[in-house]
Amino acid sequence: MSSTLIRPELVRLGAAPASKAQAIREAGQLLAAAGHIDPAYVDSLLARENVANTYLGHGVAIPHGMIEHRHLIHSTAIAVLQVPGGIEWNPGQTVHLVFAIAAQSDEHLALLRRLTRLLQDEAALGRLFDTPHPADLLAALEQQAPAAAPAEQVADFAHGFDWVMDYPNGLHARPAQQWVETARRFAANVRVRKGEESGDGKNLIALLQLGIAHNETLHVSAEGPDAEALLAALKAVMSGLTAAEQEQADKAAKQQQAQARRALWQPAGKPLALDGIAASPGLTIGQLRVLKPSVLEVPDHPVLLGTGGDQLDAALAATRQELQDLAAATGKRMGATEAGIFRAQAELLNDTDLITLTCQLMVEGHGVAWAWHQAVSRLAERLAALGNPLLAARAADLRDVGLRVLDKLAPELGARRKPLDEGDNLIIAAADLTPSDTAALDPQRIIGLCTAQGGPSSHTAIIARTLGMPALVALGASLLDLPDGATAIVDGDSGRLYLNADEADLASARQWITRQQEAARNSAAAALAPATTQDGKRIEVAANANHPDQAAAAMKAGAEGVGLMRTEFLYLERDSAPSEDEQYQTYRGMLDALEGKPLIIRTLDIGGDKQVPYLNLPHEENPFLGVRGVRLLLRRPDLLEPQLRAIYRAASHGPLSIMFPMITSLEEVKALRAVCERIRQELAAPEVPLGIMVEVPAAVAMADQLAEHVDFFSIGTNDLTQYVLAIDRQHPELAREADALHPAVLRMIRQTVEGASRHNRWVGVCGGIAGDPLGAAILAGLGVQELSMSQRDIASVKAMLRRCSSGHLARLAADALRCPDVGAVRALAARLESVREEVEA
Ligand code: PEP
Ligand code: MG
Repeated sequence: MSSTLIRPELVRLGAAPASKAQAIREAGQLLAAAGHIDPAYVDSLLARENVANTYLGHGVAIPHGMIEHRHLIHSTAIAVLQVPGGIEWNPGQTVHLVFAIAAQSDEHLALLRRLTRLLQDEAALGRLFDTPHPADLLAALEQQAPAAAPAEQVADFAHGFDWVMDYPNGLHARPAQQWVETARRFAANVRVRKGEESGDGKNLIALLQLGIAHNETLHVSAEGPDAEALLAALKAVMSGLTAAEQEQADKAAKQQQAQARRALWQPAGKPLALDGIAASPGLTIGQLRVLKPSVLEVPDHPVLLGTGGDQLDAALAATRQELQDLAAATGKRMGATEAGIFRAQAELLNDTDLITLTCQLMVEGHGVAWAWHQAVSRLAERLAALGNPLLAARAADLRDVGLRVLDKLAPELGARRKPLDEGDNLIIAAADLTPSDTAALDPQRIIGLCTAQGGPSSHTAIIARTLGMPALVALGASLLDLPDGATAIVDGDSGRLYLNADEADLASARQWITRQQEAARNSAAAALAPATTQDGKRIEVAANANHPDQAAAAMKAGAEGVGLMRTEFLYLERDSAPSEDEQYQTYRGMLDALEGKPLIIRTLDIGGDKQVPYLNLPHEENPFLGVRGVRLLLRRPDLLEPQLRAIYRAASHGPLSIMFPMITSLEEVKALRAVCERIRQELAAPEVPLGIMVEVPAAVAMADQLAEHVDFFSIGTNDLTQYVLAIDRQHPELAREADALHPAVLRMIRQTVEGASRHNRWVGVCGGIAGDPLGAAILAGLGVQELSMSQRDIASVKAMLRRCSSGHLARLAADALRCPDVGAVRALAARLESVREEVEA
């Protein structure tokens, strides 16, 4: 290990911190005092504890800051705090050595590797817990090949391959876990060797001990009946993770750059400042409302088992319904992601462990409310203790949903927090907020959120961002000691909460807010302007929207119409198909919301990834290659005809087009046109443009012929990519490789545009790649005229297209077509970045 990482001034022996937080602070201060970090990074070390478990085992903890705060690190270093008396890290876990890590890249992996070795030698480790000599610690950590745990020098197995570590951050626990999981599926033995040292590929600690850093070469070998299969699977997983690892590292770097670029409000005076993690951006000034946590005592009133069971059933059913209604209302108010939070919560009510445990407690003679509350608390604690932030977030959801049920079982307890009924301009300060609490907040009166706990990826943070409410999380327990009613400034960009600001600072914060609001108005106005290139070529930008309120919101966000209405959503999550009349009302509602802007209605696309139980469709071995999209509609006039009738009835109320999904052949087009024309005549309805989705390679190959018979093409790149690359779009391992910017897919898009142009037909794209700025630029360069995307991507895509000339776009597309692989296409993003910088300069 490099001796520059730990130096004598970074070691403090004989410390006796009063708490874990103080231990972290003391270790962090060693780093700050030696100039390795900005003092603000100490808060980042503390913040990480709220989202991850840094206890390594055997009395050792490795606190390390949040990735997004890496810019606060001046140079990589590690400080050691020795606590001979021990300090409780988590319940039941006592720590004697605290290694506070400030790592700019992967240099600290070497230390982790030494530490994991030391953990295996408890006697040597134990001596370090109370040694009075810093030199002992330094020596133990600097040894390259300790006598206590000699490097395993064993021969490779017969079969194997070499691999160069291309994860920017080297091998850390998350990818290592996936390697191990893959290897364990096979009987063969596997060994991973780096230089002279090797470890068992099925053992996480052994792999981490190798301390594999970026660009190091490994040899992976295996022996046993299925050795070849193991090696093939492991290699695929190792390489398959590269893109995600690189993407994560890029994202962190970009966040750092964006954060460094973003100007932050700075108080001139000396207000009291509390550091947390920025969870939702923006600056706001309001009155602090501190919600003290209340301890919920649930009395144990046993009832007859049958009665208790019935009560539980009824409470669960009522809560399920409540969550469904809440999901529907949230979907309308905020969007599908936020609605999904409550749908997922409803799913928790079906958890077998939860119901079983409740019933066991009732059988033991406890009351139903008490048993339910116990079961929820125990399971939530179990999830939270695993130290995985995703599971911890799941625990918060479980507690949230648990309180809803408890409220039904024992309403007199008032288990759920009541919405605040008085005061305006409030900034809520709470230990934590449940997603339900957050969704119920009235954004007219509540203008900021601060929580002592929580992480930036919690559901609460997601909801705050959607509501556009500045929010801070992980501010620490002292948040709840702040005076209720005080004037506070929440800075959702820097992650700080300010109190006691003087008049001058309040005035400067107000000015800052006014400027932010102006900037937001300007960018909203820019989103409404068309996407016209520097030389005057216009690209239509439409939205993918399924409900009238989504369409209305999309128009406000700058959409010039709806380029894809996925009508299958009218059929999902219900017990029977929507009637012709119900559909007609929805299509009319869409047209009304669009106020004269065009609407493309895609007929039902069921099958593949979208299943509708009440249609009783036969089981398919390969649903993506089976009866889906128009293949189903042509077999089921009972589905096709009411839908077409509803669409033609709506057609007199606004400009709409009909689009058919999963077209493979000209026969299908002709058959569908004939049905459309018959129904149109029956209803004496106006003619409407009829288009098709191009999402099957056969349709691409026949594009020039299909174009003669349709009015437009819209390329469904999500499906086209899966069919061109032969990768199931939902495949757990492969889906991330199904990137629509693959040159093979781009060549198909070029062929489609060429085919369409033979008959002067326009071509749009409504798959996900249309909303990716690089994707949109390449598509426009290939001659695609309309891009339909989710509402949130509209502003950035329009802004990017406006910065380019059509020459830029055409050259970009031509270069993308010549790329050998998708990585090379993605690398062209740098070119867009330089266009941006040129224009901004
Ligand atoms: C597509 O396949 O690109 C598309 C837009 O349709 P869906 O995602 O609904 O299959
Ligand atoms: Mg599709």
